[in-house]
Formats: sequence, C-alpha cells, structure tokens
Amino acid sequence: MLRPNDIVAVALSGGKDSVTLLRILWKLERRFPLARLIALTVDEGISGYRSEAISMSKEVCDQLRIEHVVVSFDQLFGITMDDVAGRQNELQPCSYCGVLRRKALNEGARRVGATKLATAHNLDDEAQTALLNVMHGDVERILQDSQTNTKAPASFIPRIKPLAEVPERETALYAYASAAPFQTIPCPHGHNALRGDIRVMLNRLELKHRGIKHTISRSIERLSETAEGTTRRRAFQACKLCSDPTPNDICEACLMLRTFKAEAGAMYRPVL
Ligand SMILES: [Zn+2]
Repeated sequence: MLRPNDIVAVALSGGKDSVTLLRILWKLERRFPLARLIALTVDEGISGYRSEAISMSKEVCDQLRIEHVVVSFDQLFGITMDDVAGRQNELQPCSYCGVLRRKALNEGARRVGATKLATAHNLDDEAQTALLNVMHGDVERILQDSQTNTKAPASFIPRIKPLAEVPERETALYAYASAAPFQTIPCPHGHNALRGDIRVMLNRLELKHRGIKHTISRSIERLSETAEGTTRRRAFQACKLCSDPTPNDICEACLMLRTFKAEAGAMYRPVL
C-alpha cells in the first residue's frame, strides 16, 4: 500500500477508527525518514457535532506532532450539510455527505501534495458496503468500490484502506487502549437505516459463524478481480466539470452540486 517516500494524507474524522489509523501510521512513519503524514479533516458544516470532532482531531495531531489540515464543504462547495439536510431531498443526508466528503478529501489531499490518501474503513464497513451495494442492486458500484481497481487516471490520488481487514471491535479496542481522545456522539443528521440493519445482521451472523465478514469482503474483491477488463467494469475518466475521476461524464458530486445550484439560494462554487 505504501512506499518509503510517500506523502500520506490521513482522513481524520475524529472518530475511533481514524484516530486508530493515524496512531498506527504515525508509529510506522517514524521508521521511514522520507515519508510524511498529514492529517486531513473535513468540516461538513454540522453544528453541534463537527466542531467537537475538529478540536479532538487537533488535540491528537498536536500530541503526535502531525500537521493538521481542515477543508470545509462551505469553503469548497458553498454549502453545508446543515443546509443539505434542511432541504427537500430525494436521498438521505448520508448519501450526499458521503459523496461530497469523498470529493473534499480528494481535493484536500491534492492541495497538500499527498501521494496517497488513507481512510480508516474497517472490515465491518467493507462488509456492510458490499451487502448494501448488493441490496441496492448497484453492480457497477460493487466493482468500482473495490481496492483492486487499477483503471483510475493519473490525476487520481490513490486511496488506501489499511484497516480494511481489521474488525471494528479491534479498532475500537485499540482506540480505548491508547487513551486517545475520540468522538463518540452520533451525527445529528441520522444514519443510513439499511446500513444499520445490515450491521446488526452481520454482527449476529459473525457470532454464530466466525469469519463471515472476512468472507463477504474477500468475495467482493474476488468478484472485482474477475470482472477486470470486462464491460461491466467502467474505466475512470475526468469529470467534465471538475476533472475528478469518475466512471461517468459528470461525477456524482458535481451532479448533486448542480441540483443544489438550480435551487434558489444555493451558491455552488465548483472546485477548480
Ligand atoms: Zn465533477
């Protein structure tokens, strides 16, 4: 995943997984004098929630002496998640937030000159996402989300998920054992209801059938490998509006932002 001279932007939300990831990468990085870590926090503009996470993230970075950069939806897109959640939406707030956060992280990583973008997705996240995509019937996304996708254009900062095979219980244990501050309150805009149900189901299954989360996650990787080079797997290209990598003409984030712009009052400023 990493080279000795990588500049690694670590997506730091301030939750237990990202704090764990940052600490582990920090320990590793000390052995590689040419490598550099930069923590990247996205401020989605969620009042009563995000400011606490930002100050906790800052505290962790100060402790570890890691540079901490914050990018905000407001600054990048001219809209906050509180604005998004307050409008009449086709999708749940989490769906917009996920797409815009991904774009903000990519932009932040580009600004700090990162050669890799590390996110703290754990095994539970991966297995849940796999089943979620299956339940949505989103075959393209199943193949696209895989780590083995090698069709991204050169402008794309490669994303790595070092904790993708580590169960959530273990990242949580690590976070508690390291006594680092992390945020525990849930987002006020709620959560993806179906993902929550899948999470409960997977935890029940895992208790009775050890290793089932690994098997699901690995199955998706193998499916993606099998689909390599087939027409079901669409190659990435540059978005016509923002140049970010997308399997379509216009990326999902630009489509969403264009919808917001079409409504009175929204002030979409494209990232250039
Ligand atoms: Zn775009």
